[in-house]
Amino acid sequence: MDAEHMGDSLERVLLTEEQIHARLAEMAAQIWADYEGKDLLLVGVLKGAVLVMADLMRALPGSVPMDWMAISSYGSGTKSSGVVRIIKDLDTDITGKHVLVVEDIIDSGLTLSWIRSNLSSRSPASVEICTLLRKPEVAKVAIDVKYVGFDIPNEFVVGYGLDYDERFRNLRCIGTLAPKVYS
Ligand code: IMP
Ligand code: MG
Repeated sequence: MDAEHMGDSLERVLLTEEQIHARLAEMAAQIWADYEGKDLLLVGVLKGAVLVMADLMRALPGSVPMDWMAISSYGSGTKSSGVVRIIKDLDTDITGKHVLVVEDIIDSGLTLSWIRSNLSSRSPASVEICTLLRKPEVAKVAIDVKYVGFDIPNEFVVGYGLDYDERFRNLRCIGTLAPKVYS
């Protein structure tokens, strides 16, 4: 789905597919250099991180395994509920592994700080975070994010895996929604 297929539901494009791919390539190069010779496991958080994971891992110049977690922290609205629940846990034993959590967006940071402490309790060698997008709200919680694609304004965005009520995940770019979509 391209921006033109959104009709008047799209307010504006924040990041094009080309901008996203170019930034992910830079991040992949950095990640590869940082984790050279280490037992790296990419952990994605369903469902939003699906597209980030697909493009980031293909931009890496060597083989790397991935695993997935599904948690619930958001309902159908646009605000974090603060309640985190594991819907699907990892298949992998992460003991001694260098875990890199791949995320689509960090808003309040509540979700990721919960995931990080949960994963840290399983004796991995390290747990770091890679996110495509970060909102300014995250400054409120002390969460150390090793790789950030783009810092974006405090607006609700969709596309490239990000949804509004499960819609628009397949939009190629990232953009904001017209107010009429919410009402
Ligand atoms: P946090 O706990 O507030 O950091 O929420 C993070 C999660 O909320 C993300 O993984 C997304 O699923 C969702 N989220 C936060 N902001 C947005 C947004 O602008 N668009 C779509 N989903 C969002
Ligand atoms: Mg998500």
